[in-house]
Amino acid sequence: MTFKALLMREGEGGVEYAVTDLEEDQLPEGDVIVDIEYSTLNYKDGMILGGNIGRLVRNLPHVPGVDFAGTVARSGDPRYSPGDKVVLTGWRVGEMHWGGFAQKARVKADWLVPLPAGLTARQAMAVGTAGVAAILAVMALEDHGAKPDDGPILVTGAAGGVGSVAAAMLAKLGFEVAGSTGRPEQADYLSDLGCSRIVERAALAEPPPRPLESEEWAGCVDAVGGATLARVLGQMKYRASVAACGLAGGAEMTCSVLPFLLRGVNLLGIDSVMQPYENRVRLWDRAAQDLPMAKLDAMTHECGLSNLLEQSRAILKGQVRGRLVVDVNA
Ligand code: NDP
Repeated sequence: MTFKALLMREGEGGVEYAVTDLEEDQLPEGDVIVDIEYSTLNYKDGMILGGNIGRLVRNLPHVPGVDFAGTVARSGDPRYSPGDKVVLTGWRVGEMHWGGFAQKARVKADWLVPLPAGLTARQAMAVGTAGVAAILAVMALEDHGAKPDDGPILVTGAAGGVGSVAAAMLAKLGFEVAGSTGRPEQADYLSDLGCSRIVERAALAEPPPRPLESEEWAGCVDAVGGATLARVLGQMKYRASVAACGLAGGAEMTCSVLPFLLRGVNLLGIDSVMQPYENRVRLWDRAAQDLPMAKLDAMTHECGLSNLLEQSRAILKGQVRGRLVVDVNA
């Protein structure tokens, strides 16, 4: 029986993308076949769909999509049985391995996590890889001592996927949240998510007037990187932490070491791709417990396989608000 997938293949003018009918035996090797319900469009998917595949996708034909949620159809691994609900993010699925922009996937059982009670497949993908990074970032701040009474937490790129999930979770946990955005028209959206203060993106993109500015933030979830991250480091309170998740504003940064040496600021790296299984189970439990589901629904839009290319251009331009789930069966 055939299924639909967004297939990338070599064309005459470069890589071509088309929704294509595939046979199950064309799927790569793996232990578990999953009937996918939802995937999601992440920034990295945007890069791959935009043709920027050099470091990400090495072999064609390829099915992109760095995450998915669905139901086990067949399993050669004792941990999973047909009918089990599962979620997958990371492990370079959608890059090195075929991914979630399809109605079926065959993957290693080690890469799967059981869908936690309380979350639907659609809600799990409303979280998706961006949300996983946001939850890991919040957990990292907590593990380094951040508490609601310490003061405001800054979220950069707040109207994007990582930023929206981080802001909603932090607000639900009782933190005061400041959202930095380049889209002032999203102020109401951010305030609905729980941001009590909006910071203009441009104010953080300027080089700092001095390496240490006044101590403003008790923590930061940074989706932007580059000059913004360098600037924010000098605004952190004594011993506060910045969880560095993203590079929407740039990969390179020049910064002073003084925030580390004189204020004991922690710069925490967040990687969602290679997290061990135990951490994944922990973060998905936190998603079910600590994300406000009504806000998650409100930040989520939906598309199908056929309009992914158009949406991928929007995410690279920073024009997607919140999260975009992909109904692969639409
Ligand atoms: P989105 O495109 O949804 O959000 C990024 C946001 O960053 C935009 O909405 C915008 O927010 C802001 N932004 C965009 N361009 C610029 C710019 N030039 N300068 C400053 N701010 C900008 O992407 P995601 O939230 O999904 O991902 C954000 C980053 O996190 C990406 O770099 C992505 O690769 C990374 N990421 C990392 C993961 C990890 O494991 N570490 C996992 C998932 C994502 P606003 O309009 O509010 O200003």
